[in-house]
Amino acid sequence: MFITGILKGMWVTIKAALFRKNVTLQYPKEKRNRPYKGLQKVNANTCIVCGVCVRTCPVNAIKIELKLGHEKTRNANDYNFIVDTGSCMWCGLCEEVCPKHAIYLTNIYEMADYTKDKLTRKIN
Ligand code: SF4
Ligand code: SF4
Repeated sequence: MFITGILKGMWVTIKAALFRKNVTLQYPKEKRNRPYKGLQKVNANTCIVCGVCVRTCPVNAIKIELKLGHEKTRNANDYNFIVDTGSCMWCGLCEEVCPKHAIYLTNIYEMADYTKDKLTRKIN
């Protein structure tokens, strides 16, 4: 009875060691192919510059800045959409609330950098 228990336990360990497929990847050579909540992108053709995404973001990570020399309009091409990826917590609320589905999270997740200012990214 005691020996059977030990053999059963060993068999579980041997099976796992020899036959189970690895769950870890040799990153960055290998990358997992699945949807992520990554860097936002704004579709300037559908965005109406309502600012709902800015007001909804719980950490104030999104900024909409008027481009130099441009007039205030409802055209997203007149603005720079900027995300502070150092503050963003990838909750996806900006995507959820956008009335035009203009802002969405992409699969871009490799955003590490050496200085904090480089974490601020233009997304349109
Ligand atoms: S991305 Fe969506 S929520 Fe944000 S300003 Fe444009 S239309 Fe409004
Ligand atoms: S994913 Fe969340 S934290 Fe990041 S910008 Fe959108 S609302 Fe803000």
